[in-house]
Order: sequence, then structure tokens, then C-alpha cells
Amino acid sequence: MRISDILARRQSFSFEIFPPKGDMSVDQAAQVSTELCENHPDWISVTFSAGGSGNSERTADIGRRIERGVGTTALAHLTCLGSSRSDIDAYVRRLHSAGIENVLALRGDHAPGREAIDFTYASDLIPYLKDAGLCVGGACYPEGHVECESLEADLEHLKLKVDAGTDFLVTQLFFDNEDFYRFRERCDRKRIKVPIVCGIMPFTSTRQLQRMAFNCGASIPARVVKRLVAAGDDVRAQFDAGVRYACEQVRDLAANGVDGIHIYSMNRPEIGRAVHDALADCGYLRA
Ligand code: FAD
Repeated sequence: MRISDILARRQSFSFEIFPPKGDMSVDQAAQVSTELCENHPDWISVTFSAGGSGNSERTADIGRRIERGVGTTALAHLTCLGSSRSDIDAYVRRLHSAGIENVLALRGDHAPGREAIDFTYASDLIPYLKDAGLCVGGACYPEGHVECESLEADLEHLKLKVDAGTDFLVTQLFFDNEDFYRFRERCDRKRIKVPIVCGIMPFTSTRQLQRMAFNCGASIPARVVKRLVAAGDDVRAQFDAGVRYACEQVRDLAANGVDGIHIYSMNRPEIGRAVHDALADCGYLRA
């Protein structure tokens, strides 16, 4: 099903997984999707890694298993730095043959050997994928993209991306919902009218939180730091604090009428279950 059709009907609930890395098999990754689907998500997105992990080949395979095996809508990510038109054409053919109708069009991060070939920004890739008949999402950044000098410039670029044909947006993770509400207002003033789905990542440990915040430039509110201080060195307590905090975040987002909630599950079904239960309790999810 096209995600634009889902979002036209209701507030969405969805998960992100990453394809298998290292020793994890495609079967094991498909099992994670099956367990996440017990929470009846509207879709599951599958990341794309153009880096050294070499797992980008498996994005479409996992998407196929989600669509055909589990019977849920799949959203396949795709980055364009370092790819030529013919690389993108080959990926699109794989999506079509896997029955995948939705793609998240991304530029990807700069890295040595990954220079722009035919596409410099996501806004170059989006019309290309629309012409291929796909429903196309884009990324957005409530606190601004790390490389961009100002929120205003980043919003200008986002407007270009939306005007290039983006059907919906998914946000970078954020830990302070007020950042998202301010961003939503700025989008509204800029006449960015497509649905904006909130990406929420429960932190699972102090180290993981530090790494994520550094990589994507998300700020960490003092109340998050205090909870981690209270958890001390206890790894299980850090994980529980992160999941509890994410559940509070999603309840507040639900109460504030967001278009959708997308959980960065990190391939951990227990995270999916906890957030599902929090959203079911507050009436965001239908029975
Ligand atoms: P763009 O929209 O192209 O923007 C990149 C930068 O260029 C921004 O600073 C923007 O302000 C600026 N810019 C845009 N247009 C112009 C212009 N015309 N002129 C000047 N400057 C411009 N990465 C992966 O490798 N794999 C994944 O699966 C993946 N999934 C993601 C999912 C989500 C929901 C998000 C939020 C990010 C994801 N990323 C992923 C990370 C993403 O690839 C990086 O954040 C990347 O640095 C930017 O990608 P983008 O598509 O937002 O880029």
C-alpha cells in the first residue's frame, strides 16, 4: 500500500529496522519484522547502508519479505551519493519486482569515495523516483541538519525537497518534543504541507545516546541526563530508562495530534511492544 494513502486516512504507527549485518542472516532479520508486526504497524522501513557494512544489497530482500511474507507495507530507504542513474535504475527494478511501492529518498552522508555522481541532494533523487511510479518520502530535521549553518537555510532546502514531489516526511530523532512542535509551526508558515511523521529513538545506553546525539546533532535535555545518572552503570536500568522516556515522548506526541509516529526499533522487538502498549493505552492506536 502507498504510505501517502495510509497517511491520508489516519495517524500512522510504524517501525524502522536495519538489514542484517555481520553474522545476522536475512532469515533472522525477517523474524524481527515478524515479531514487530505483532504490534500491527502501518509499515516497516528498512535502512540502506552505502558504507562499509555492505548490507545495502539486503534492503530490497528484507522489504520483499515484509511485503510478501509478513504482509505489511515496506518502506525501502535509498541513498544517492556515489550512485549513478543506472545504479538507481537497478535498485528501482529490484523494488518493483519485490512489490515495494514506497521509498525514503536520501542523500546519505559524505565519505571518501562516495562523491555525488548524478545526484547531489535528495531533492535531485526525488523527482527521478516519482517518475518511476514510487511513493516517495524524505528526511527532515527538527533541530536542523548537522551540516547546515542555520535552521532557516535548512528549511529553505526542505521546501525545495517537498516541492520536488516528496509525499511525506520522516524526522530525524529528537528528545525534546518542543523542538518538534516549533519545527511543525515553521513548516506550516513555510507552506510545507505534506504529512510529517515523528521519528523516535528510545536510547538504550549512555554510550549509544552519546553516539547518536553526536552523529545527528540532536540535543539531550537535562531530564534525560538525570535519568541516566540515576541508572548509573546498570546497563538494564539504562535501557529501561530509555524505553520509559520514549513511551512518555510518544504519549505527548499523540496528545498533540501528530501525523504519525515512527519508532527506530534497532531490531529489538521488546522496544516495539513497549511503545505499542503506551500508544494503545492513550487511545492513539485503534483496538
Ligand atoms: P538532503 O536533503 O540532500 O540535505 C543534505 C544537506 O544539504 C542539508 O544540510 C541540507 O540543508 C543541504 N541542502 C539540501 N539541498 C540543498 C541545496 N539545493 N543547496 C544547498 N544545500 C542543500 N542514512 C543512510 O545512510 N541510510 C539510511 O537508511 C538513512 N535513513 C535515514 C532516515 C531518516 C528518517 C533520517 C532523518 C536520516 C536517515 N539517514 C540515513 C541519514 C541521512 O542520509 C543523512 O542525514 C544525510 O546527511 C542527509 O540526507 P538527506 O536526504 O536529508 O539530505
